[in-house]
Amino acid sequence: MAIPFYGLTLDQLRGHLVGLGKEKFRASQVFKWVYQQRVTDFSQMTNLSKSFRESLPEIFDMNPLKLSQHLKSEDGTEKFLFDIGDGKTVETVLIPSSDERLTLCVSSEVGCNMACRFCFTAKQKLQRRLTSGEIVGQFMGVQDAIGMKRRISNIVFMGMGEPLDNPDAVFDSIEILTSELGVNLSRKKVTVSTSGLVPQIPLVAKNRVRLAVSLNASTNEIRDHVMPINKKYPMNQLLDECRRYAFETKDKVTFEYVLLKGVTDRIEDAIRLKNITQDIPCKINIIPFNEHPNSGFERPSDETVLKFQKKLMDLGVHVLLRKTMGRDIYAACGQLRSKFEGHPERFRAQRPSKEMAL
Ligand code: SF4
Repeated sequence: MAIPFYGLTLDQLRGHLVGLGKEKFRASQVFKWVYQQRVTDFSQMTNLSKSFRESLPEIFDMNPLKLSQHLKSEDGTEKFLFDIGDGKTVETVLIPSSDERLTLCVSSEVGCNMACRFCFTAKQKLQRRLTSGEIVGQFMGVQDAIGMKRRISNIVFMGMGEPLDNPDAVFDSIEILTSELGVNLSRKKVTVSTSGLVPQIPLVAKNRVRLAVSLNASTNEIRDHVMPINKKYPMNQLLDECRRYAFETKDKVTFEYVLLKGVTDRIEDAIRLKNITQDIPCKINIIPFNEHPNSGFERPSDETVLKFQKKLMDLGVHVLLRKTMGRDIYAACGQLRSKFEGHPERFRAQRPSKEMAL
């Protein structure tokens, strides 16, 4: 069976080619064709011998992920749904910023086992972990879809799944996308977000990428309730590991904090949040809950959100209020997939415009 090309790091590709009796530098040549020139037809890789070019399609599978759906929000957010076979799909979201950043939020798993109570994906239990090729495939598929005039500048692992529950594929995909001979993304522009898998957090520092932690509570009691992973790795262990990450990398940790009405949005929550994070170099992103059916949680009023933000600012916390993007295109993680999986007729019904139709 052919080897999926997009799942190979440069070293792994070298290993395969050397095993076939080829020189090591051939791997660099092929990598550059694919990731820098976007030439995926081996027959067009003109600095390789004809016989070598002819042998490659039997060895490597260069098929891209199949893009099934592409929706564009009024606010510029774009959502992509990829068909990964076996009737399974994954979501990828492209988020533009006013400062020219173009951030891709990738998925690392189909469904998720972390069971965060506010999360739509959690309702779709883990079905399978993605391969490194499927993660890289999301990046390449979106970049191909939007064209090279708009370059994806940042990646966040905040889509479906817990990235640190699938660390080999996640860190291999980062190795591929940050390779100087490939897409050459800066590691500083890659963020891995975790719900709190404490033993795997040192891998984030080891791979020299940024750490985000979905904190979402200021006490163990609240966190046990909204994020069951906290029962296994309580907040003091999580915060200790964050402190260690910041010390080792000299980088700030990003804490994500979802505001749930009456649960995490009170002024006393803001004060405790400041107290528990004050000795960790960090910034805090507060995110008003993006409501979805049967979640059991509500979004706080805009007034409450602003009061919460102001309290943190008054306390000297580096805080950012994350706008909810793409509410008109099933923005809650996992929502688009849930809408369409198993219902191909809905693809047709939901296409927003001719240009976006696939
Ligand atoms: S928030 Fe993330 S880690 Fe938690 S259940 Fe959802 S996808 Fe999994």
